[in-house]
Amino acid sequence: MVPRFLLDGMLGSLARWLRIGGVDTEYRKDTPDDILIEEALEDHRILLTRDEALVNRARKRGVEAIYIEAEVDEEALRQLAEELGLTFDPTRARCPKCNHAVEKVAKAEVAGKVPEGTYAAVDDYWVCPSCGGIYWRGSHWLRIVETLSSAGHPAHS
Ligand SMILES: [Zn+2]
Repeated sequence: MVPRFLLDGMLGSLARWLRIGGVDTEYRKDTPDDILIEEALEDHRILLTRDEALVNRARKRGVEAIYIEAEVDEEALRQLAEELGLTFDPTRARCPKCNHAVEKVAKAEVAGKVPEGTYAAVDDYWVCPSCGGIYWRGSHWLRIVETLSSAGHPAHS
C-alpha cells in the first residue's frame, strides 16, 4: 500500500515535493502535537517531523512516525525512499498547495488565466478543483522529475 503522510510545520517544502511526487501528504502549520498525533491516528498517516520528542510521543500512541534529520529535501526524499520503499510518480502529481488530486482540463479553460507566452507554448494543463491552482509542465518540470527519480532510486544501486 502507498503510504500517506502528515507533516508538521517545519516541513512545508518537503510536503510540496511529496505532493508533486504523487504522494498523499497533509501538512499542518502551528498545530499542537496532540492534534497532529490524533489526526495521524484517525487518518492512518505516517507522521514526519524534525522533532524527536514528537516522534517518541507519537510512537507511544501507536502512530508510525519518522524523524527527518536532513535539512535538504532531496536527502529527506531519499531517506523515505530507502526506509519505506517509496517511489515517486510525478505523472500522478497532487496540488502542491493543498494536496487535492489535480484534474486535466481543456486548454481553452485556462485561456486568459496563464501568461500569454505560456499559453502559446504549452498545450496541457491541470487544475486543482479545491484551490483553483493551475499547473503545467514548464522547464522546471524536468528538473523536478529528475530530482524525484534520483531520490527514488538509492545512489548505491
Ligand atoms: Zn489545490
